[in-house]
Order: sequence, then C-alpha cells, then structure tokens
Amino acid sequence: MVKDQIANRGVQDEATLKAMRTVPRHLFVPESQRSRAYDDGPLPIGYGQTISQPYIVGYMTAAIDPGPGSKVLEIGAGSGYQAAVLAEIVDKVYTIEIVEELAKQAKGRLRELGYDNVQVKQGDGYYGWKEHAPFDAIVVTAAAEFVPPPLIEQLKPGGIMIIPVGSPFMVQTLMLVEKKGGQTKTKSLFPVRFVPFTRE
Ligand code: SAH
Repeated sequence: MVKDQIANRGVQDEATLKAMRTVPRHLFVPESQRSRAYDDGPLPIGYGQTISQPYIVGYMTAAIDPGPGSKVLEIGAGSGYQAAVLAEIVDKVYTIEIVEELAKQAKGRLRELGYDNVQVKQGDGYYGWKEHAPFDAIVVTAAAEFVPPPLIEQLKPGGIMIIPVGSPFMVQTLMLVEKKGGQTKTKSLFPVRFVPFTRE
C-alpha cells in the first residue's frame, strides 16, 4: 500500500511513509471490510461515513509537515486511522467526531492500540478545541462549505491547515491554509470527494 499507492504517487515525507507502514489499517475498518483494508480507496465504516483513501491520508499528513514536537487537531475522527497516523509522528493529537458511536469506537480502538497521545471527543468540530489551542496544524477530514473561522483562530502563527472545501455530495477542492503574520494564505490543491461536514 505505502509503496504503490503513496510513495510512488509522490508523497515523499519519510515520517509519513514510516507511520503508514506502522499503523495496522485493517484494525480500523469493520470486520466485513478487512480483506479490503489496504485497497486503493475509501471504505465504509458505518453511520454513512468512510475511512479515507490511503493516498489521501498520506498526502494530508505530509502536507502539514508534521514533526515530533507538534500538536495537531483533527476534525472528523471517523475510524481513528488518520489520528493514529499523526500520533506516530507528532507529540499530541486531538480529534473531534460528531457521530457519538464513531467517537466511542475510535476512542476504544486507539486506547487498545496504545495511542495514549491521542484524545478523542464527541462534538461539532466547527468550534475547534479551545482548551488545547493553539495548534501547529489542523487536519479536517469532512467537506466544509467554507473554512470555519474558529479553526483559523486556533491555528498558531506559522500554522497550517488542510481542509476539503466545497458543496456536500459534489467534488470539493482540497485547500491548504497557512497563517502568517496575522494573515491567512490559501492555496487550492486538487479535487477531492469527502463526506459532508455536518453541524450539531
Ligand atoms: N479521519 C477519518 C475519516 C472519517 S470521514 C478516518 O481516518 O477514518 C469524516 C468524519 O467526519 C465522519 O466520521 C463524520 O461523522 C465526521 N464529521 C462530519 N462533520 C463533523 C463535525 N462538524 N465535527 C466533527 N466531525 C465531523
């Protein structure tokens, strides 16, 4: 998976590749999907949600340039897989999931696998996680119609956010948002298809 789908498609960040070789993706999908866990696509995880395509997880992880001292916020914990990949690299991961049952499952799974540097909470990620802000990076894994202002606020100066922006159930654009000297700079990357960012 890592060689063919991620490294060969241009993701070069060694820490990201190593993390994705380490995290057992098959333990993050429902048993019925286990044989497809390392396939080149998203998979259903119940509640109408999906675990993202491995390439997208790799791309988004590398894009925030994660490092050992970093504190990262993720919106859309889903299965907990993206959080685990980040947790292999950075110091602390905070992840928010709006679907209560998924939040519960992700929390249990990450605990069982020993990811004690990840905190999961149920809630609407639109508001970020103020108690732990500011963050070096924010990874949003559901498609929002616009970049939630509270998330920009909770980004450190010099911080970076990656977020799919666009209408739900259509093709969206993956965007990179950089906060620099009180200004934010936004760059469009490529078209993507994510599940919708919902609100409580
Ligand atoms: N990162 C996940 C992918 C999950 S798909 C993984 O690695 O498995 C996106 C998730 O975002 C879904 O589980 C969905 O329920 C959640 N979501 C949608 N809107 C949200 C919101 N406002 N706050 C938090 N989570 C949200």
